[in-house]
Amino acid sequence: MAKTSKKMPRRNRSSPQGSLVGLGWELLVFGSFALNLVAIALFALPSLDRSGTPLGLDSEGSVAEAALVASPHSEGQKEEMVSEEEEISVSSTSGSLPASKDAVINLDHGDPTMYESFWKGMGNRGDITIAGWQAISYFSDVTNLCWFLEPEFDHEIRRLHRLVGNAIADNHFVIVGTGSTQLFQAALYALSPPDTPEPLSVVSAVPYYSSYPAVTDYLRSGLYRWAGDASACKGNAYIELVCSPNNPDGSIREAVLNSENGMTIYDLAYYWPQYTPITRAEDYDIMLFTVSKTTGHAGSRVGWALVRNKDVAKRMIKFIELNSIGVSKDSQLRAAKIFKAISDGYELPNPENKYKLFNFGRQHMSMRWKKLREAVKVSGIFSLPEFQPSHCKFARERTETYPAFAWLKCEKEGVEDCESFLRSHKILSRNGKHFGADRKYVRISMLDRDHTFDLFVERLSSLT
Ligand code: PMP
Repeated sequence: MAKTSKKMPRRNRSSPQGSLVGLGWELLVFGSFALNLVAIALFALPSLDRSGTPLGLDSEGSVAEAALVASPHSEGQKEEMVSEEEEISVSSTSGSLPASKDAVINLDHGDPTMYESFWKGMGNRGDITIAGWQAISYFSDVTNLCWFLEPEFDHEIRRLHRLVGNAIADNHFVIVGTGSTQLFQAALYALSPPDTPEPLSVVSAVPYYSSYPAVTDYLRSGLYRWAGDASACKGNAYIELVCSPNNPDGSIREAVLNSENGMTIYDLAYYWPQYTPITRAEDYDIMLFTVSKTTGHAGSRVGWALVRNKDVAKRMIKFIELNSIGVSKDSQLRAAKIFKAISDGYELPNPENKYKLFNFGRQHMSMRWKKLREAVKVSGIFSLPEFQPSHCKFARERTETYPAFAWLKCEKEGVEDCESFLRSHKILSRNGKHFGADRKYVRISMLDRDHTFDLFVERLSSLT
């Protein structure tokens, strides 16, 4: 197996205040979704939709059918066909749209619905039509190592990285995945020696993304197993996951381990200009990205990996072959069109300065962080990380950090569990314990719709 770790010089970049004490970990993603349903059922009775079921699910638990109809009609006709109530009924993971001032506010998941308003303003620029006969084959390009990668998507990924300058794609293989969640597993598979007597340790510095433990261990693989906080890792064979900017706390991170036999996967899901200054083009051996956090299209379930080493790329591709025989072409074609619309917005004449996704994202995030910091100040019982501005090569100016999640600490005396405290005020968040951190912390999504976010800051500022 090829060794792929490449240690980069440490960089002196901003990190949030305060050291975080690990309290162990418990799994999330699937469990938390179930918990959410229960929590919403308990709290959200006043905000049930007309069918009497929460979350826009029908009695069988499927997403309301209106959401699944891909309309071939023009923008105007679409507007008529999808009424506001139907739109609300597809609110899925974020729960019912909070209709009243005291409704449950669900900011547990990082569901990027904030981007809906941008794409509504884009008219038909992001639309695609796929004829019934098109995209039928399993294969996309048999001449490419990644034979299930749509050439248009490959092209638009490389174009977007060149435009933004956040990663060097040109000397890397592009591998598409069903979300970066699948690529993360493909990378673990590719980096683990097949003949290992003991599973390889998978670690990440606390606070780590809450899905890493669960996704690593849910199949009890003989190849690798979750081993917790990277700083506490013993031994020199491991896979370290480095998420930068970090989910949950927004810090810019480097690997904390530095062994000859260690390997590193860089999860750069949030290394985009709306969240953080782009200070250099990253050039790591394995870098993971996701459409979900780049453009908001989480429902398309598309991510991509940039992989330098051919043998590692081959093994990742093998994993995806075994796991899902490739990746939805429909989704890739949509993602290619969405990326094209973004790059065109910056590269083609745009006299009104519209259609610029990263500008939209940055303005929204800046406004939201301002409101959140004001609410925290008014309330007086919470604290937030602080970040230093840096020169952003993409924006060509000094910019601030606006993470996709708020890593909120409850400083109120007697409150040991911030998540329970917020839940008692009908705010659903993710407990710090799921990130290997203290229960005084919670993670709150900053990417929900304006209405939900405004209700949240209003409620937070009233807590004392
Ligand atoms: N990595 C990080 C750090 C994330 O926050 C997320 C989404 N929450 C993912 C990976 C997974 O992204 P995807 O939707 O592409 O599976």
